[in-house]
Amino acid sequence: MSAAEKIITTLYPGQSDDHKRLAALHRYGALDAPASEDFTFLTELAAKACDVPYAFITLVDGERAVVKSCTGLALGSMPRSQCYCSLAVLGEAATEIGDLGRDARTAGMPLTVAAPFMRMYSSVPLTTRDGFAIGTLCVMDTKPGCLSTSQRDMLRKLARQVMALFELHASERALKASKDELETLATTDELTGLHNRRSLMSRLRFEVARTRRFRTPLSAVMVDVDHFKNVNDEFGHQLGDEVLAAIGRLVRENVRVIDVAGRYGGEELCILLPNTPPEGARKFAETLRSRIEAQVHGAGARTVAVTASLGVGSFNHMDIDDAEMLLKQADAALFRAKARGRNRVEG
Ligand code: GH3
Ligand code: MG
Ligand code: MG
Repeated sequence: MSAAEKIITTLYPGQSDDHKRLAALHRYGALDAPASEDFTFLTELAAKACDVPYAFITLVDGERAVVKSCTGLALGSMPRSQCYCSLAVLGEAATEIGDLGRDARTAGMPLTVAAPFMRMYSSVPLTTRDGFAIGTLCVMDTKPGCLSTSQRDMLRKLARQVMALFELHASERALKASKDELETLATTDELTGLHNRRSLMSRLRFEVARTRRFRTPLSAVMVDVDHFKNVNDEFGHQLGDEVLAAIGRLVRENVRVIDVAGRYGGEELCILLPNTPPEGARKFAETLRSRIEAQVHGAGARTVAVTASLGVGSFNHMDIDDAEMLLKQADAALFRAKARGRNRVEG
């Protein structure tokens, strides 16, 4: 066997603990993450250092191998069985195959038997901190051969950089996820799932500015549950909370994505309806009123239905009204709805 045909490594243990390896891979969330320029730089460097035309960063999933970065040849996702790297992730050390055409495991693989007719393959596993090989950094050539010791050493060092980059991207994603979660927590009212008052007011200022800029109407609907104190007094605070949560859900189900629904305070909600003239807002409010009335809360013998009064206010870019005026209008309309008998829409 010539030096070029020499196969360095490899132990090929069974795939019994592949699920642990896959769990480690999936923790990085890198399989379907968008391509990154930083990886391209590393494959280019690997090809250059090893003096070959091709270099790839590949992650080996359960059924598929996903090429995250390529130099010399564009490869995407392929069945695991058709990828040289599938062999490499099973071993701990570097894998080098001097002539892919003469190795029984690789002789029939697509990249060997069809263009570009790969012959040399050398890879270093991408190993997680807890010791799982999730993929490889590999170089290939259409000529048989092998890397020098210093080239292999360079490939190993670059593989460590690839892993450091995967770690960095994973940390960035985790940081963003927790930032998004914190943002949601900070802007959401826990009981109703609607915007909390602070977030509602900030969105109101934004919507007013947008209304002025794009000359579109903006409406607000104030909702106040009728005689809610009686619900608490008769059925207890907990059922009162359940009623508010159910109304919050109902509101969320009935608004458009561009609408902003918030808990203004206590049992009072406010819904901002961008790009909606007063007639449209009144129609929306009437639908919501009838749906609130139709809901039944509680269970068994302890059920209760509530009604709500709604006031509609509208902001017109032609007027000099501001955010405060819009809410005052809606509030005044709500007051009229209460005064005129409740369970009705005014404005
Ligand atoms: P009206 O028809 O005039 O609006 O009568 P009302 O009883 O709804 O009005 P009032 O303002 O007198 O009472 C509001 C009640 O809403 C009193 C308060 O305890 C209750 N409430 C406010 N926030 C919550 C909450 O988060 N959970 C529960 N269970 N009750 C709440
Ligand atoms: Mg009330
Ligand atoms: Mg109230």
